[in-house]
Amino acid sequence: MAVPSTAAATRRIAAASRTVAGVLSEAAEARATVVLSGHVNPDADALGSTLALAEGLRRRGALVLPTFPGTSALPASLGWLPGAEGFVPSSALPSSPDVFVSLDAASPGRLGELAGLLDTAGTSIVVDHHASNPGFGELRLVDPGAPATVALVADLLDDLGVAIDRRLATCLYAGLAADTGSFRFGNTRPSTHELAARLLATGIDHAAISRRLFDTAPFGWLGLLSVVTGRAVLEPDVGAGLVWTWSSSAEAAEHGLPAEQLEALVDVIRAAEEADVACVLKGQDDGSWSVSLRSRGGTDVARIASGLGGGGHTLAAGYSSYLDREKTIEALRQALAEA
Ligand code: MN
Repeated sequence: MAVPSTAAATRRIAAASRTVAGVLSEAAEARATVVLSGHVNPDADALGSTLALAEGLRRRGALVLPTFPGTSALPASLGWLPGAEGFVPSSALPSSPDVFVSLDAASPGRLGELAGLLDTAGTSIVVDHHASNPGFGELRLVDPGAPATVALVADLLDDLGVAIDRRLATCLYAGLAADTGSFRFGNTRPSTHELAARLLATGIDHAAISRRLFDTAPFGWLGLLSVVTGRAVLEPDVGAGLVWTWSSSAEAAEHGLPAEQLEALVDVIRAAEEADVACVLKGQDDGSWSVSLRSRGGTDVARIASGLGGGGHTLAAGYSSYLDREKTIEALRQALAEA
């Protein structure tokens, strides 16, 4: 569901972008230390926006430290992003950098162990596009109408006077294609295609980017998919209809897969037309469940997820549950029945 954009909102976002770019520009000229990070379990938008803004600021003179929260390695499926080899482990960061930039994180909690930098950095800046973002950080560039955080970063790079070349465009296109589902989701606007056209004009290999993002997985993925789709449950009477299934990092490992491969399962499950809401419970190593929700349009899953301690977008959201599997799905049934 696209957020209607008014002329006033567009002007407000453009002004916020110029303000943030002005602060970043001064920091870069002063050779300041800038830490940039996306959210836990980083995706293409989080990593693409982090790497693109880091590279832009580096070119302007800043001492950049791109990172991401958590102790796990970079998702293997995103290790090809230009500059990914330059990610700094979060344990190696200064405790009070001049500037901290949070990218694509809907809440401080999504920054994991890096959330403290919001307070300890000289200046904290939040760049995000989640509808559930409560507003945090000293300076904010938050636009729920933006299809991806990379779109906001593209504006920042323009305001910083950094030319978007093939390297930057590859990072930006990855986030844009991922968050719009290859320009299929309702968050895609005319300006989304205009940005995509600009990025393609730099000569990026967009077919290779899309193949890596959407059409590449180890053979074991097929086995995992058959098990997980085979146990899917349809509950047409819950809310506007619920289809759900579950897996776990341990089950992924049985198929020779890293836990990140669980993320794409919901994109298959949500095809069930009888259910407005699709849900995948992903068992984590610590025993908790990471819950992914998708809506076909009749349910605001950002609200459902927020009510259960998470957040996200109107049609794509998530949260963590520390209950067992049955109690987790029962709590979701209740939330959907009340929605
Ligand atoms: Mn995003």
